[in-house]
Amino acid sequence: MKHLLPRLPYAQDALAPAMSKETLEYHYGKHLQTYIDNLNKMIPGTPYEDMTLEEIVKKADGGIFNNAAQTWNHTFFFETLTPRPAGIPPRLAEKLSESFGSVEAFKEEFSKASIGIFGSGWAWLAQDPAGRLKILAESGAGNPLTKGMKPLLTLDVWEHAYYIDYRNRRADFVKAWWDLVDWKKVEGRLQ
Ligand code: MN
Repeated sequence: MKHLLPRLPYAQDALAPAMSKETLEYHYGKHLQTYIDNLNKMIPGTPYEDMTLEEIVKKADGGIFNNAAQTWNHTFFFETLTPRPAGIPPRLAEKLSESFGSVEAFKEEFSKASIGIFGSGWAWLAQDPAGRLKILAESGAGNPLTKGMKPLLTLDVWEHAYYIDYRNRRADFVKAWWDLVDWKKVEGRLQ
């Protein structure tokens, strides 16, 4: 099965200034496209050829895992951003408070995990099989699906995600990113 570049649910200039058009042109248009192209080149003739992207992420390792997970992670990351952010819906706010003490405490802990990742990686909010919410700091292409957890929210902290707009200032990117999160989508993923 051939994997395709997903459509963005907003225009490439719609997230500026927090995330510029140039960042999306590179991050979505070039980085994500390259992961997809690599994946499509690597899977013909392997057991992964007819699997869904999620199955590949759960089962592959090495280069196929890296390119499949980067495809999955970026698709999820971009689809969870919005130019018209609204507040956190009550059910999700309650769940976050239950797990982390308060919504503010969750944001602080998630920001700290994102900023603390050494080198390239992804911060995640995920739900474990018992329904509990967890924050995960993953390096490389790491994804909670490989740990049997359901991803709810992710933040890309690879340098390519912020270097055009923020240079080396990852913490400033993390701070600005909070205002782009589509909380309705995050809530819709709760089990
Ligand atoms: Mn990225």
